[in-house]
Amino acid sequence: MQHSSKLQNVRYELRGPILHAAKKMEAEGQRILRMNLGDPAPFGLEAPESIVVDMIHHLREAQGYSDSKGIFSARTAISQYYQTKGLMQIGVEDIFIGNGVSELISMTLQAFLENGDEILIPAPDYPLWTASVTLSGGEAVHYLCDEDNNWWPDMADLEAKITERTRGIVIINPNNPTGAVYPQHIMEQFVELARKYDLVLFSDEIYEKITYEDAVHIHTASVADDVPVLTFSGLSKAYRMPGYRAGWVAITGPRAATAAYRESLELLASLRLCSNVPAQHAIQTSLGGYQSINDLVRTGGRLREQRDRACELLNAIPGVSCVPAAGAMYLFPKLDPEIYPFGSDEQFVLDLLEEQKILVSHGTAFHWPTPDHFRFVILPSVNEIEEAVRRISSFLALYRKK
Ligand code: PLP
Repeated sequence: MQHSSKLQNVRYELRGPILHAAKKMEAEGQRILRMNLGDPAPFGLEAPESIVVDMIHHLREAQGYSDSKGIFSARTAISQYYQTKGLMQIGVEDIFIGNGVSELISMTLQAFLENGDEILIPAPDYPLWTASVTLSGGEAVHYLCDEDNNWWPDMADLEAKITERTRGIVIINPNNPTGAVYPQHIMEQFVELARKYDLVLFSDEIYEKITYEDAVHIHTASVADDVPVLTFSGLSKAYRMPGYRAGWVAITGPRAATAAYRESLELLASLRLCSNVPAQHAIQTSLGGYQSINDLVRTGGRLREQRDRACELLNAIPGVSCVPAAGAMYLFPKLDPEIYPFGSDEQFVLDLLEEQKILVSHGTAFHWPTPDHFRFVILPSVNEIEEAVRRISSFLALYRKK
């Protein structure tokens, strides 16, 4: 059977050949320590019970299709949530609910891009952004984030890459895979560039509630209401329910300028009828009341301890350096290329898997330009993290001696 050439340049290596190799090993009975996906469920980080109960409670009335933009109570709850955070401009009509942020990334880009339009995406990125731009006929252009400066974006590099075909900038804040959380002055620079070059800001804020120490997440839309901003968030991470599939996008900026775009997005939303209705019922309960994620990220909280321990142990390996994550659930350590001159980081990850039965993700899968980083997920328990770093350390020690 033929297959579409539109997929020729679309890559999503996080679920590619290395994961398949790991699954094959597991099928043969080997136990793999999986540090590869940002899924809290396998590590005992469960969704709050009240949310699960709420979904079960609504199952009977959630049998039919919903409005394509999402059920009214959920969209109201999302708009009220943003209003309590000072984003008074976000109303119910500005919100579209989807099967996770993933579906909305794809839909919002499809509704936006002409063939050959360019979108600026951070390097490293969450690779779905690059894949979705490519699938929508656009060109992904990567701007560098600077490891020596907290992994914040290199604004000069970003501006230098703006061309006549540039239509938008993707901001991932807090960032996957680096854990960076951007301060006010960086957010202001994004907005200034959007103003200056007439660009739309695609702000992926799925990790907005996962910040450590004194890092404060700033909503892009709060920095300027005169620039079109698409704010993405959802229940997958802070509420630990990625399998239920619930995310949303809020559109802000000048109404007249975004009117035609909203209609296109509504058309696309209606083509897929609606998103998973039981999960939509969980949104209102999730956003209201006590936020259990705070217990995990505060000093002494499980995620915070795991981040600290992982960072400390990784930094103790000769030739490995790791910027502590200010947010999200990942570290993106560097392997000094003088000590570990890997030609292919994919091969490094595969060899590590085969020899030490541990699965991490290679840095170039996140469009990092050189084969000298990998992503380490901090969701496993401290014991598992200690075991994982011990195995990585043994593998690298052998490699150093070669
Ligand atoms: N955006 C980022 C930055 C992510 O890391 C992820 C998942 O890992 C997603 C979006 C996808 O989220 P969802 O489960 O809502 O589709």
